Amino acid sequence: MPDGRLRTIAQGRETSIVLALLAIAVLVPTVCVFWFMDQAIQNQQQVVRQKLMDAHRLQLSLLREKLEGFWQEVGAALEKETSRDTAPEAFARVVATGRVRSAIVLGPGGRVAYPGPPLAPRADLASRNADWLRAVRLEQDSANLPAAATAYGRIVSDPSVDASLAARAAQGQLRCLVRAGQHEQAVSIVSKVFGNARLANAGDLQGRLISADAELLALQILRDPESGEFRRIAKRLHARLLDYTNSPMPPDQRVFLMNQMKSLRPGRGFDEFPTLEAETLAARFLAEGGALTHSAALRGSAIPGVLQVSSPKGRLVMLLRTEDALHQMEKLIASADLSPDIHIAISPPGTRPPKSAESTPIGEALPAWHLSLVIRNESIFEQLARRQNMMYYWIAIVAAITVAGLAALAVGALRRQMRLAGLKANLAATVSHELRTPLSSMRLLVENLLEEPHPDPKKTREYLQLIERENVRLSRVIDNFLTFSRLERDHRSFEFSSVSPEAIVREAAQSTRNRFGIPEHEIEVSIEPGLPDVRADENAMVTALLNLLDNAWKYSPTEKRVVLKAYRRGNHICFEVEDNGIGFSKREAKRIFRSFYQVDRRLARGTGGCGLGLSIVDFITRAHGGEVDVESEPGRGSRFTISLPCATTAVVAPA
Ligand code: ADP
Repeated sequence: MPDGRLRTIAQGRETSIVLALLAIAVLVPTVCVFWFMDQAIQNQQQVVRQKLMDAHRLQLSLLREKLEGFWQEVGAALEKETSRDTAPEAFARVVATGRVRSAIVLGPGGRVAYPGPPLAPRADLASRNADWLRAVRLEQDSANLPAAATAYGRIVSDPSVDASLAARAAQGQLRCLVRAGQHEQAVSIVSKVFGNARLANAGDLQGRLISADAELLALQILRDPESGEFRRIAKRLHARLLDYTNSPMPPDQRVFLMNQMKSLRPGRGFDEFPTLEAETLAARFLAEGGALTHSAALRGSAIPGVLQVSSPKGRLVMLLRTEDALHQMEKLIASADLSPDIHIAISPPGTRPPKSAESTPIGEALPAWHLSLVIRNESIFEQLARRQNMMYYWIAIVAAITVAGLAALAVGALRRQMRLAGLKANLAATVSHELRTPLSSMRLLVENLLEEPHPDPKKTREYLQLIERENVRLSRVIDNFLTFSRLERDHRSFEFSSVSPEAIVREAAQSTRNRFGIPEHEIEVSIEPGLPDVRADENAMVTALLNLLDNAWKYSPTEKRVVLKAYRRGNHICFEVEDNGIGFSKREAKRIFRSFYQVDRRLARGTGGCGLGLSIVDFITRAHGGEVDVESEPGRGSRFTISLPCATTAVVAPA
């Protein structure tokens, strides 16, 4: 394999190793930077999360405080609202607020004031009244019910009789009339007698309101809710049942009558009792032995799902269903000015708090209740972190690009240095070889001539011709070395001027003929007439053509035919050198313009070349803004074409 190619391969390997090392030098720190970045990003996520949690935690504890005092505030407000009320009034007003389901109103000493237990029966003072005893006897004798009714009626209409006894007598009269089947009279007694203010609030021996019972009886008799009488009595009874101020009705009677009214389906709202549920619940609470010890904590009761809490001054025991308490406290939470990213959930005792970032018991006021901080959108942490990450990634990318850019510059510089080092090595090797060969041939020839005291003139001439040829070869090699090293060293600045292509062609042809002593006809010159000038450095272009002609001559067999042409193609002037020489393959055509490249080094050595001619041609052509092209076929010849822009087109000299 030619030395040049070996050197090229070795250089290629070296370059690959250097490039690989550089790639590692760039990749390793880049990967490290990204790894550190990743770690930093993860820490950042933690920090962001921590900061947000701290902010939200504050909101959580503020809400906890509010909730702890919430039921005491409710109790205080209700106590204030009902401070002047009687116990039944207080009960009705508390229930009407809708803040609690029911309440027990306590009196002095913590005794239940409403809804209280049934009263102890009163002493029956009527047993001393003779009219009363007679009426009772007549009633007992079932055969004489109308007479009994009349006897009772007399007591009712006696103004000197106590209201309570008169009411009881009216009740007896009613009873007798119903039993005697005199329903109309019975109803009219209810309408007239119990509508009367004197008897309206009279109670029986158990404290039950007689008028209310009588009105219910009348409604049961009348039955038809559409009848005018029914409507009047129903309205009166309904009002009585809702009246917690003037109707001294025991709670159990009130509940009983309300339920009875409902079952009669009176319509027109007469079956609507807003306090019925509260009354029932309070009664049940008391019946099941509800603890009435004062407690500011919202705690359970004997009724499942019902909670109790005392008001601050202890006048009320407020009863709530768990869902009501939950609802009200949720409303309080909803009214808090919370960040839209979080949600604070409250969970009653016995329920599992939702999956949350943080969960805390509320405190003594709400035992076993929990408050949980739920992050609505966990991805906000990611979003925030992603924003930061994007910044970090950009920094990393910029850093990586900078490192890569610097590395690329370093690679470029390194490659240039390596190429120069390679060129220097090539130059030294080639120079020593290419100079030594013609010099030693010349020395041998001269020594031969000198050895003979009387040399044969013919032989002397022949030797001198050989020496001249070696000399030409030597000068050509030296010329190319000098041109090449000048071009490589300072990128020789060309002196451009408007030059006639014909002048370049003729100068190059003549110079070649002189150099090789070629007869005129062996280099055929063809110049298209009227060619425009090119903007060029004339000497440089002649050198380029000289190198092409040199090669055409060198690499052609004995029957040489070299043609040098100049013609116009579009905006370009083409200089073409064609030969019928040995040619080369397409593969080689791509390489021959490289410095020191020779297709066949042995052949080149014989012809006196050092692989620089074509790289000089290529350099000069490009400096003129032109191109050099080659077509060749092994064994048939080659055609090199330099095309330069016409003089009108600006040409920029390389820096
Ligand atoms: P050299 O000094 O070796 O001629 P060049 O750079 O001028 O160097 O040419 C490089 C190589 O290209 C030559 O060694 C030769 O193998 C090939 N070459 C150049 N011109 C021709 C041609 N006209 N015909 C055949 N081969 C050529």
